[in-house]
Amino acid sequence: MQIGFIGLGNMGAPMAANLAAAGHTVHGFDPAGTTAAGVHPVTSAEAAVGGSEAVVTMLPDGGVLERVYAEIVPMATPGTLLLDCSTVDVAAAVAAHERGEAAGHRCADAPVSGGVGGATAGTLTFMVGGSEAAYRGAAPLLDLMGQRRVHCGAGGTGQAAKICNNMLLGISMIGTCEAFALAAKLGLDASRLFDVISASSGSCWSVNTYCPVPGVGPTSPADADYQPGFAAELMLKDLGLSQDAAVQVDAATPLGAHARQLYQCFVDAQGTGRDFSAMFEALSAGKRSDFDA
Ligand code: NAD
Repeated sequence: MQIGFIGLGNMGAPMAANLAAAGHTVHGFDPAGTTAAGVHPVTSAEAAVGGSEAVVTMLPDGGVLERVYAEIVPMATPGTLLLDCSTVDVAAAVAAHERGEAAGHRCADAPVSGGVGGATAGTLTFMVGGSEAAYRGAAPLLDLMGQRRVHCGAGGTGQAAKICNNMLLGISMIGTCEAFALAAKLGLDASRLFDVISASSGSCWSVNTYCPVPGVGPTSPADADYQPGFAAELMLKDLGLSQDAAVQVDAATPLGAHARQLYQCFVDAQGTGRDFSAMFEALSAGKRSDFDA
């Protein structure tokens, strides 16, 4: 297949490389001049789209997606598969579907879970919104870039699934950090608490596979000085998207709102490039009064 790939950043580059490694002809564009193994670099979005049967985008946010779609949708051959794997706001995803479908294209929003490691290994999970035809068309490409895909429903529901999942993850990570920070002050050994929780009703992914306490549980970013993994600023982005969506549909998400506030304070204090599980350090070092609402 001829594939255009727009946005060759930390995630896009290895995803495009996996498509090329499977034998597809991939033309990739990124204004930063980044490239990827096996991908033919081109100097404009237009050049990436020309002649392509599918165009994959992996962009920073909904504003950029809107600008890129305004440019590429009119020039793509009708019937082209437009597959957006970026994490963007639900409204931008729906608008991208409307624009693409009005021009006769098949559109899917397919944000990912799995991070740079998953993108490189081709083990991402895709949450897909779009018509049945778009989903079927996207499936062979998704299977080269990931190992799991779920068709969530109509256009925009992939993004909805992503932000609901990550809102829960942010909340559960903070809860996990609180439990281990409290345990330390109560004189309870973290490994013993891990043994209890990981086999009890408090067990969750944040405890069992991504424990935020160094030296406890399976290897995680906590064991590598909180190098991401999943950076706190990306969690903050996703919590922000969840709250924007919640406001739009008047959904009550008080813990999601509080999680966003806590990650905002964390990123303001610690800057970027730290794993989101480093919240454990912030809570462990803090006093009760530091976190008064
Ligand atoms: P990134 O910043 O490394 O890559 C984004 C790329 O888009 C950059 O290389 C940038 O130059 C390019 N870009 C910007 N404007 C453009 C334009 N007009 N046309 C073409 N390219 C343009 O970000 P990333 O980490 O690769 O993340 C990409 C998306 O995936 C984001 O939406 C992010 O939220 C999501 N995501 C990231 C992770 C992760 O762990 N990094 C995990 C899941 C989802």
